[in-house]
Amino acid sequence: MSRENAAPKVDWARVFKRILFLDNHSRARTDIYVTDLTGCARKAYYNILFCANPPPTTHMIVGRLCHLGFQALLASYKDEFKELRNVLAEVDMQVPLNDVWTLKGRVDLLVEVDDEVHLIELKFSRSAAKNPDLKDMYVVQLNTYLGMFMQIQKPSVPVHGWLVIFDTGNTKLRIEALRVEYNEAMYRETVNKALDIARAVEEQEPPKPEPKADWECKYCPWRALCREQSDRTITDYTQQ
Ligand code: SF4
Repeated sequence: MSRENAAPKVDWARVFKRILFLDNHSRARTDIYVTDLTGCARKAYYNILFCANPPPTTHMIVGRLCHLGFQALLASYKDEFKELRNVLAEVDMQVPLNDVWTLKGRVDLLVEVDDEVHLIELKFSRSAAKNPDLKDMYVVQLNTYLGMFMQIQKPSVPVHGWLVIFDTGNTKLRIEALRVEYNEAMYRETVNKALDIARAVEEQEPPKPEPKADWECKYCPWRALCREQSDRTITDYTQQ
């Protein structure tokens, strides 16, 4: 057999699809993701009702590679930053909301720092530094991971949250690290929001629209459906 006709040793397309999870994006009908809870409740309702779990976008894949890259980089700097004891990337967490529904999330980095645990969310954004709505959403997301972590681990060690924003809106990259301490009231509010959305899905009754800002509707895949449900214009974008 000539070399040209020999079967390829590796199907590289399959390898990369597999390692980038392009072929694995199932979502159970009773899962609520933490990211569903940071924005409009009606958008979350449609995501869950239609079991929406679109294949990862290029942006999400690059984000995933960054998380894994930072894990490797931080581990390689252990001699310089001796306080970093263990670094894990993309740590999955889940807690039951009730007998039926499950809250699921994935924190970007979990780092053991001396006798503490730090949960770190990495955000790459052109606008987060100037957009308080976006920052608020990130804080709710990270606070939910902190609450879930404490619920799962019941740790005796202190746990802290860090929101690290890479501001890519300038030619010079700026990095801002915000400490986010756990806020029990905010966590309870988020869990209650999840339960309200679960109830709405069970009753198939869309919750009130509550986009954080026009841009949330601009990028919402359910805009057309939402407009049909609404007896009034929500934002300029729902008209389009
Ligand atoms: S279009 Fe806007 S208000 Fe309607 S579901 Fe989407 S984000 Fe919410």
